[in-house]
Amino acid sequence: MDYYILTLFPQMVLDGLRTSVIGRAEEKGVLHLEAVDIRDYAENKHNRVDDSPYGGGAGMVMQAGPVYGAYRSVVDRIGRKPRVLYMTPQGKVFNQSMAEELAKEEELIFLCGHYEGIDERVLEMIVTDYVSAGDYVLTGGELPAMMMIDCISRLLPGALHNEASTEVETFYDGLLEYPQYTRPEEFMGRKVPEVLLSGHHGNVDKWRREQSVLRTAKYRPDLLKQANLTEKEKELLKTLDFPGEI
Ligand code: SAM
Repeated sequence: MDYYILTLFPQMVLDGLRTSVIGRAEEKGVLHLEAVDIRDYAENKHNRVDDSPYGGGAGMVMQAGPVYGAYRSVVDRIGRKPRVLYMTPQGKVFNQSMAEELAKEEELIFLCGHYEGIDERVLEMIVTDYVSAGDYVLTGGELPAMMMIDCISRLLPGALHNEASTEVETFYDGLLEYPQYTRPEEFMGRKVPEVLLSGHHGNVDKWRREQSVLRTAKYRPDLLKQANLTEKEKELLKTLDFPGEI
C-alpha cells in the first residue's frame, strides 16, 4: 500500500507513523509513506497557503491552488488517480469495516485540512471520500489521517508479527474482545481466571466468547443488534435483564 498524505505538517505525520509497528512495516516494504507539503505549492513568495473567507467570518481558509498542486504532483508522478480521503468532521465516521474496505486499495491519498478548512472548489474536484475521526472538531486532519493509516495498515498482510491478532479482536463478529492477562498469575491479590491456566482450549474459547458477549452488553450494548449471537447467548443476556435490543 502506498500512502500519500497532503498536509501542512509533513514531519508530524511521518514522525508519528514511523514509530513502532507501522514504521517496521514500512521497513519491511509492506507499505510506503510519503508526506507531500502543501506549502511547497504556494503561489506567492511568502509561502502563504491560506486567506480570509469570502463573505466574512472567523479564521482562515486553505486556498484551492496549493492543495490542487500537491494533489497533481502525486497523480502526475504515479500516473493514476487513487481515492482521495478528505479528513473532515463532516464526513462518514471511520470504523473497522471502512478500514477493511480501504485496505484493499493499492494507493490512497489523505488530505489534511487546517484552520477553517479548505476551499470547497478543490474538494469538489479531487475528493472521493469525506471521512471523519468522530463527532468532535480537531485543529487539523493530521491526527485523523495518522489514526486511519495506522488502522488500515495493521490489516495489510505482513504488517503484524502475528496475523491472527487481527482475526479475533474487538469488532470481529460485532463484539468487543475478551479481557487479556499475562504473567504474573497473581497481581496485588488479583488472580488470573482459573480457566486460562487449565490448558483446555475448548473451555478457554468458550469462556472468552462468553466474556466478549458480556463485555459488549456492558460497555457497547449498541453493537449487540448487529452481532452474530447464538440462541444460547441471547438467552444468557435475557437472564441478565439486558435492557437493549438483541
Ligand atoms: N470549519 C470546519 C467545520 O466546521 O466543518 C472545521 C475545520 S477544523 C478546525 C480544521 C481541519 O481539521 C478540517 O479541515 C479537517 O481536515 C480537520 N478535522 C477536524 N476535526 C476532524 C474530525 N473529527 N475528523 C477528521 N478531520 C477533522
